[in-house]
Amino acid sequence: MPTPGLAIRGPRSLLRQIREAMASGGPAQARLNMVVRIIAQSMVAEVCSIYLRRSTDDLELFATEGLNPSAVHNTTLKPGEGLVGEIMRLGRPLNLSDAPNNPNFSYRPETGEDPFHAFLGVPLLRGGRTIGVLVVQNRTERTYAEEEVEDLQIIAMVLAEMVAGGELFNEAELRNVELAPHKPERLKGAKFADGLAYGRAVLHESAVIPSDLLSDDAPAESLRLQKAIEALQLQLDGMLDGHGLVGASYDVLETYRMFAHDRGWNRSLEEAVRSGLTAEAAVERVRSEHRARLGQARDPYLRERLHDLEDLNDRLLRHLSGDGAAVRVLPENAILIARNLGPADLLEYDRTKLKGLLLEEGSSASHAAIVARALDIPCVGRLSGLRDRVSEGDPVIVDGESGEAYLRPRADVIEAVGARMEVRAQRRAEFARLRDTPAITRDGAKVSLLMNAGLAVDLDILNDTGAEGIGLFRTEFQFMVAEELPRLDAQTALYDRVLDAAEGRPVTFRTLDLGGDKVLPYLEAEREDNPALGWRAIRMGLDRPALLRLQLRALIAASRGRELRIMFPLVASVEEFRAARALVDHEIAWAERRGRTAPGLLRVGAMIEAPALIWHLDALLPLTDFVSVGTNDLMQYLFAADRGNPRVADRYDPLSPPALRVMKAIYDACHESGTPVSVCGEMAGRPLEAFALLALGYDRLSMPPSGIGPVKRMVLSCDREAARRGVLNLLKGSAGSVRNEIETLARKLSVSI
Ligand code: PEP
Ligand code: MG
Repeated sequence: MPTPGLAIRGPRSLLRQIREAMASGGPAQARLNMVVRIIAQSMVAEVCSIYLRRSTDDLELFATEGLNPSAVHNTTLKPGEGLVGEIMRLGRPLNLSDAPNNPNFSYRPETGEDPFHAFLGVPLLRGGRTIGVLVVQNRTERTYAEEEVEDLQIIAMVLAEMVAGGELFNEAELRNVELAPHKPERLKGAKFADGLAYGRAVLHESAVIPSDLLSDDAPAESLRLQKAIEALQLQLDGMLDGHGLVGASYDVLETYRMFAHDRGWNRSLEEAVRSGLTAEAAVERVRSEHRARLGQARDPYLRERLHDLEDLNDRLLRHLSGDGAAVRVLPENAILIARNLGPADLLEYDRTKLKGLLLEEGSSASHAAIVARALDIPCVGRLSGLRDRVSEGDPVIVDGESGEAYLRPRADVIEAVGARMEVRAQRRAEFARLRDTPAITRDGAKVSLLMNAGLAVDLDILNDTGAEGIGLFRTEFQFMVAEELPRLDAQTALYDRVLDAAEGRPVTFRTLDLGGDKVLPYLEAEREDNPALGWRAIRMGLDRPALLRLQLRALIAASRGRELRIMFPLVASVEEFRAARALVDHEIAWAERRGRTAPGLLRVGAMIEAPALIWHLDALLPLTDFVSVGTNDLMQYLFAADRGNPRVADRYDPLSPPALRVMKAIYDACHESGTPVSVCGEMAGRPLEAFALLALGYDRLSMPPSGIGPVKRMVLSCDREAARRGVLNLLKGSAGSVRNEIETLARKLSVSI
């Protein structure tokens, strides 16, 4: 029996025949029928069928050679239904020797497909979206060879372009075919950065759809490809060699470079070009294959590798188009759409045009989310299926208040969001007017409002907020957005810039708070079952003092005679603080021995985040110059509720008797010992929570920049003594939350919350 397979090796001449069939004129259906016949003949297949995606998301049989012709336009499958639906859901090929015995097989008697065992189906992909499925079938049981799968993928790619490019059908015939999503959709995700934005979608990993897919001159295309690959390799070699990297950071870039030099990758590209594709089309084809292979991987390492490969493909396409080093230009009001973003990606875009960010994956602690918050760009993440549902240029709303994305929103939604944006803008203007007004309560209590920061970009807004200084500078952000461990001079330079930007206002630098959910790709860390309770923050610093000492050295060097405030995160015992402070003393002595300028004034403090410390404040406070309560962590440990897990994070209320009693105990102990105390968790930046803190005695609050205006408005309208009496009364009850009562109290006292 003859082995079925492509009669002519390489799909090139087949593609020519398909093109000719398309150009032959006549009704679309007749041409499509001809196409399936040609493919079936070339592949020695008894069946060849094309399914296209309808606007309902169903797949409809559009043409077939070998199945019952009456099934055409009658047989439909839902995404995930049957083998064809499964291909659409997965976006990758299925190659089965005995399809009817596969558990996903869905028998449709009208098609008459029962005698066919061998089955090969590939998705018709356009811009990473499945717009249809192409299937070949044979009677005999067999597994199609890898080359046959590849060939069918190339054919599918060309067909997808023809269908979408209007070569096959006219508009009327395409009316119900879902080439690109067009219905309004609302996706629910997670809030990563507050705010609202309306604009046009720009795909970050843009599906560069090559305009020319086929080439007549394979040797010339091959030469173009080789030149672009060489340029890419050179670029990466330069990146690697120019940095004097060592250790893990070197390894990461080296792995990336190895991909670019990988023979298998180069060979696949070369083969695709030889089969008659242009170099660009070859890159796209090999990319979809990688996506298909790695995209389903659950292993985070493999998924990261896929990200590297996507990036590499994009770089290669840029080299092919002749602007390898160019940065993408954004249109006005751009909403960036991405699976996830790497460390520096967001910073490369034009900030004035970038209005919002939507991510398919990520977490609120991910790089992109951190940078988005720092840049004040509304961001919603964990929007599953996002990139499949949005096309370049689609109108999009980012609702960072509710954690939702509206794709192609209806006019009434645009209007409603526009009204909310207007209100936000008015409030911003009001807060801007308050910028230079000191935060003093109605009964004359002065309150210091400070800003939390962590990146150089934060410094631009320090003056706009009117903050009295930086109450928490999260130094780990520099490490998280870097691709390699920041060296001493890079750390010193950042701290120096921060102190310059503060122009004499106090800045509290928190030493590295890594570990937990803040992992660095270039620092090896063991997986832990319980990272929030694991080897993180000061624990890491004390066990690996070289890293902490380097940082202290940079801080001391940057201070150059100015005031230096250093704070240690997650101190859980007095001993830990003593050991950390000894490292500071050691580094000061080291600098002095070398004749370096010492800090004009040195203040060393601890964060109160671990509950155990609260019962040892009498021993701790005499050793500290100040403390700051990190309520984000303190609350998670008090209530044993992971702050990053939405199922439990919102289950307990910091405005509850136990939490408020703890906050009061801390304040009272500090007050008694004369130790300055602040609150620097998110709680300090919410007017109602800040109102309660004020009532408990706190008068130093450090918060995200967006909180300063609203909290100042609250302070200005508050009678602190009346608030104190009211809130202390509420600490006694048995309720799980006294939020409503505190709100009622605030309203009664005419406090703006
Ligand atoms: C906190 O835990 O409250 C805090 C301010 O630190 P981070 O949020 O960086 O853990
Ligand atoms: Mg913390």
